[in-house]
Amino acid sequence: STGLMAGKRGLIMGLANDKSIAWGIAQALAAQGAELAFSYQGEALKKRVEPLAASLGKPQLFECDVASEESLDALFDGVKAEWGTIDFVVHAIGFSDKNELRGRYADTSRANFLTSMDISVYSFTAVARRAGALMGPGGAMLTLTYYGAEKVMPHYNVMGVAKAALEASVKYLAEDFGRDGIRVNAISAGPIKTLAASGIGDFRYILKWNELNSPLRRNVTQEEVGKAALYLLSDLGSGTTGENLHVDCGYHVVGMKAIDAPDI
Ligand code: NAD
Repeated sequence: STGLMAGKRGLIMGLANDKSIAWGIAQALAAQGAELAFSYQGEALKKRVEPLAASLGKPQLFECDVASEESLDALFDGVKAEWGTIDFVVHAIGFSDKNELRGRYADTSRANFLTSMDISVYSFTAVARRAGALMGPGGAMLTLTYYGAEKVMPHYNVMGVAKAALEASVKYLAEDFGRDGIRVNAISAGPIKTLAASGIGDFRYILKWNELNSPLRRNVTQEEVGKAALYLLSDLGSGTTGENLHVDCGYHVVGMKAIDAPDI
């Protein structure tokens, strides 16, 4: 095949449905010739993921719960058995109890703090170690984060703390794998209506606020996150590692509600 990803093979983790950021990324990579495998969480998602994957050819599908070391081992054993080596991995996974994505951060329970950190932060490190072992120079890893790591955003709470830790992980992982010629980056995506996002309190208000106040005066699309991922995972991004690329219609540079923006 031809394209920026011709001859490259990689694993996409976190596909739940056609609204998933993972799906926007998968489509952008496949359109440029990448050969893909997917992992999904639990049998219940299989019936959604199978037809999506099938529409991109015949990608390998693996079930994987990133809370489990055994499950991660089985996934990467499966990928290794199929391909031997990989060129990239996409980690588009996060989780927190939605009852704690509203109200005060101060009220976060210990149990949900640990779960949020485990699934949303540690899993990327656990994935990176296994994926790195299957990569050579030119390999690339990518995770997804949000501006709530940098600034206080309504209702984001423990996920903001988790994303801050995830962003720090990206920097340490970039150093660990950089000596092997492997790059590690994050995309900080603006709000997009997905299954995970629907758990966040007042998400429709947040979408509207970003639409009215971002420099581009609109929200970002799943396709645009896909295009940024293509840059970071292809040779176009060969000089970029440890980066957190904001794909948010510029919202992260705004310090105050625009004077011309309508009140909502
Ligand atoms: P999504 O619901 O489509 O994807 C989240 C995925 O995480 C699902 O596929 C789910 O199965 C998976 N997951 C959760 N727990 C798991 C576990 N234990 N094992 C394996 N997989 C597990 O939603 P999305 O918005 O596409 O989320 C993808 C990533 O993008 C997340 O890290 C999210 O925080 C991040 N993000 C989303 C937005 C947004 O507004 N949607 C903005 C910035 C960053």
